[in-house]
Amino acid sequence: MLVVMNVHATSGQIEAVCEHISGAGLTPHPIPGSERTAIGITGNKEMIDSQQLELMDGVLKVIQVTKPYKLVSREFKPEDTVIRLNGLSIGGQELVIMAGPCAVESREQLLDVAHRVKEAGAVILRGGAFKPRTSPYSFQGLGEKGLEILAQARDETGLLIVTEVTETDSVSLVARYADILQVGARNMQNFALLTRIGKTGKPVLLKRGISATIEEFLMAAEYILAEDNYSVILCERGVRTFNNYTRFTLDISTIPEVKRISHLPIIADPSHGTGRYRMVVPMARAAVAAGADGLIVEVHCHPKEALSDGAQSLTPKNFCQLMSEVEQISRAMGREIART
Ligand code: PEP
Ligand code: MN
Repeated sequence: MLVVMNVHATSGQIEAVCEHISGAGLTPHPIPGSERTAIGITGNKEMIDSQQLELMDGVLKVIQVTKPYKLVSREFKPEDTVIRLNGLSIGGQELVIMAGPCAVESREQLLDVAHRVKEAGAVILRGGAFKPRTSPYSFQGLGEKGLEILAQARDETGLLIVTEVTETDSVSLVARYADILQVGARNMQNFALLTRIGKTGKPVLLKRGISATIEEFLMAAEYILAEDNYSVILCERGVRTFNNYTRFTLDISTIPEVKRISHLPIIADPSHGTGRYRMVVPMARAAVAAGADGLIVEVHCHPKEALSDGAQSLTPKNFCQLMSEVEQISRAMGREIART
């Protein structure tokens, strides 16, 4: 349920409605908009009388939200969510490009590539310190040491850091270093992790699970918003289909649909979405043409020597090519690439 307040509703009236909702054993989620405030209600709706709510001072109307996802839906919040982070806006007119290696492998490797992606125009540095790998024998990441290296790269380049948190026990550790917490595809339905991450209040990059429907994807985001953390960036990173020519199938159609039914920003990951570096630039162009709010791309100075995902990693030179082609597409879309 959603309570839409009058344009001139006072803060006292908004507070009274929130108190009424809490008093009925439900949770109010005030969502300030540019014109008016709306108050989302989560919990068992049988416990509240919507007609009574409608009679309260300052209330314009009460809307029943029919979708299973509430807080992430456009019914709840018609305006796009724009996440502001250190002068950067994610989900606004500008496209945000995140780039870096799959994994932090060493100080030299990360700093080297961080400077290269910065020069090419990326604004956020990616790199996994904790790696969820299909095989227990594959490189698992450097752990906290990797986080320290990422922090050094941020100090040297000014790039913000996005890095994955794989388990609830390490959320506070990763949150101390990261500007954006990444939830990997394999953890999209790790509900305890989503809730814990939601509580940090930090921006979250939520990757779509490899077999998740759009509804499941949005319900996963709902877990984070239910903790009153609205800074969620969705990421289409490919799903599993019968096609085994590429690593996954980048489901670009998700982008316009998610933007229609949700207010959250969505970016694309053409690296995991294809698994092949030659397809990364064309799929990046396609994602931006479909309305993506940004990209996350794997870049490695020596892809052949990468400890993970070398086959899908761009060299810095190829990444420059990506930036220039994406810039042209973004201009055609009436957008620009965010720069620092
Ligand atoms: C990654 O970004 O390196 C990663 C492991 O991504 P995903 O969770 O989408 O597979
Ligand atoms: Mn990877």
